[in-house]
Amino acid sequence: MKSRSLRFELTFWYSTVMAVTLLVMGVAVEQVAYNRISASIDNSLRQAAFTVISEVGVLRSKPDAEPFGENSTVLNPPPWPPRYVQILSSSGEVLYRSANLGQYPLPIDSAALRDRGRGMVISPDMRLHGEPIRMITFPLPEYNGSDAAWGQVALSLHDLDRARKKNQLALAIILPAAIGISAVAGWWLARRALRPIDGVIRTAQRIRAANLNERIAPRDVDDELGRLINTLNELLERLELNFRQVSRFSADVSHELRTPLTIIQGEAEVALREGATREEMQLALEVALDEAQRMSKLVKNLLMLARLETGQERPHFVETPLAPIVEDVSEEGLALARAKGVTFSAHTVENASVWGDAVLLHQLAFNLVDNAVKYTPAGGTVELSLSRNGSSARLSVKDTGVGIDEAELGKIFDRFYRGDSARNHTEGGSGLGLALVAQIADVHKGTIQVTSKPGEGSVFTVTLPLASQAGKARPDMTEVSMTEGIRS
Ligand code: ADP
Repeated sequence: MKSRSLRFELTFWYSTVMAVTLLVMGVAVEQVAYNRISASIDNSLRQAAFTVISEVGVLRSKPDAEPFGENSTVLNPPPWPPRYVQILSSSGEVLYRSANLGQYPLPIDSAALRDRGRGMVISPDMRLHGEPIRMITFPLPEYNGSDAAWGQVALSLHDLDRARKKNQLALAIILPAAIGISAVAGWWLARRALRPIDGVIRTAQRIRAANLNERIAPRDVDDELGRLINTLNELLERLELNFRQVSRFSADVSHELRTPLTIIQGEAEVALREGATREEMQLALEVALDEAQRMSKLVKNLLMLARLETGQERPHFVETPLAPIVEDVSEEGLALARAKGVTFSAHTVENASVWGDAVLLHQLAFNLVDNAVKYTPAGGTVELSLSRNGSSARLSVKDTGVGIDEAELGKIFDRFYRGDSARNHTEGGSGLGLALVAQIADVHKGTIQVTSKPGEGSVFTVTLPLASQAGKARPDMTEVSMTEGIRS
């Protein structure tokens, strides 16, 4: 990464833009001024030409008058501003010239002399013995007794050149000064604008796992920086939440694994004890095997949850009929219920297919049935039913078991959460069953609802979009949605 400060960059661009703007404006102003003065010089030249022409007009009315005599105002112009006049014959010979020209005649613009019909012609600027001049050549009216055919008037451009040089000098002094001032102002402005960012950087650098609850001081103004700070704070909020979940999850997993590991260790010690009988050894190994199986199931469930959540293992979604899944789970449910003295019944409909993964959907239905049987005492009933409701399939598991306290209802889908009934229960699992159910419903864009009354029983209902419906808006297979299902 290039190490260049934003402040430097802002100042640099600010000064560059300022310099270019000033330069363009300076040159433009200078050019406009020059054009105006230049146009007024052209005007003066034309006026001077008219003066000469009118003098010839006067001569016309007085045939005896001496043309361009000593008293001619044309040939004796006022000394300032310098104006040079010259009268030429039709062949381009100099007949008269103003006194201020001395011995140096005005240059002759032969192109202007070619055609009288062209009228007045202003020649390109030129120099007369070092002095910059602009010259106009014009035809004179004919009159008796003279072969004067052309007039020439030139004006000095000395003042114009001086004004131009002064302007250029002013520009050369003002421009660097203005750039310098704008650079200093830009540096100051950039510092002022970026100062709050330094505060954000300092706070962000301070935040570690231990103080994830710290936040960047919000701004009162809803500007870009204010929005950036809010966005960062929201990000920190999410990070903190995730971090706490991960920490709690690690603690829960360690806790869950500690008990079976302690049991396995204890049983192994019993089996290895000196003098242990073959029966004792066998019993110890059986217990250890049991615990190992429990641990393996726990790890399997955890892995499934993690993969579903992170979307690492994309579920294989196809059009999946639910009836065969319900039938399979019914068989398993019947066996579980029979072993416990619970009555089990199942109702299904044929034409309910969803867009999903059969293995995951089987797991979902089984977990609900397994729980229903687990938390229903002998003599109770468990009912599994599949139905269609508009554009959704409804899978519901109803039991007449111990029910769930209202206070617990919001927590039963959390990982490792086990209700009081489960903790006192010998068959209680690890508290991952419903977390998996919720996650599976979620990746199928489904929702889950639970209604329950302590002592009377519970009903868990999963609603999934039917395949025909899901076909229109299939759950995105590359994205595992994290939307929470409705849990009431
Ligand atoms: P567990 O492995 O403890 O069954 P679950 O995630 O499957 O974990 O369920 C979480 C808690 O929800 C259970 O400990 C129990 O308190 C409660 N629960 C789930 N299903 C039922 C049910 N059908 N009847 C009563 N309580 C239930």
